[in-house]
Amino acid sequence: MRYNIDIMQRENQDIATNNFFLWRFIVQNMPALLFLLLAAGGMMATYFFFTPAANGQASAVVLPDRQVILSGPIFKLLPARAVIQRFAQSLPPTRIAIISGHMNNDAGAVCDDGLTEAQVNLDIALRVAEQLRERGVRVLIFAEFDPRLTNFSGDALISIHADSCNYVNDLATGFKISPSPISDSETLYNCVESEYEAATGMTFHANTITPDMADYHAFRELAVGTPAIIIETGFMNLDREMLTVNAEKPATGIANGILCFLGER
Ligand SMILES: [Zn+2]
Repeated sequence: MRYNIDIMQRENQDIATNNFFLWRFIVQNMPALLFLLLAAGGMMATYFFFTPAANGQASAVVLPDRQVILSGPIFKLLPARAVIQRFAQSLPPTRIAIISGHMNNDAGAVCDDGLTEAQVNLDIALRVAEQLRERGVRVLIFAEFDPRLTNFSGDALISIHADSCNYVNDLATGFKISPSPISDSETLYNCVESEYEAATGMTFHANTITPDMADYHAFRELAVGTPAIIIETGFMNLDREMLTVNAEKPATGIANGILCFLGER
């Protein structure tokens, strides 16, 4: 019996000794063990934190816009401003103004049978406008003292008139043109002169240009820089047939002159 007790005591002693060595090992290596424990915890936390929720989808996430990643706005928000600059490629439409001489003002020259210059001018002006519009040119028909003349800015202005219906002499035939003394109108003048001559076969009648033509009121009303001319299409007496029955010819001459000026002929 004593023997048994001895054995039991020794076994208890052994267990105690083993426990003692284990604790001593733990205590002696505490810093290393703590480090390993923390490292393992950190790795697990990292793993579970960055693993997307398992929902059957691939774990790799493709973001729709790569700019979203690791970027933030680096621009400064400014209040919206009205755009006042016209882009170079968006040119304004071509604008040609035609004054139908004496329109909405008076009859102009009147023939014995009642034919008026205003009628003749309007007929030609409308034909010119129609021909130009067929070529895509934007045309405005103005009255003699049209309020739109004030500071009008366009590609060109042409005022259409005709000369007296009285018989003066056999030389009172032909057309004449006077350019604006304010804005450079030389190209417009040359174009209309040569095209009018070609279309009608009429001659330039230079020696009866009046101050009314040279200092025409509309020249002073336009915006500076808009080329302008006034044309007397012919004498209503000797050139009557050309200005009425054959009105399409003078109209073609003026329209072609404008197209020449616009570089479209
Ligand atoms: Zn007139």
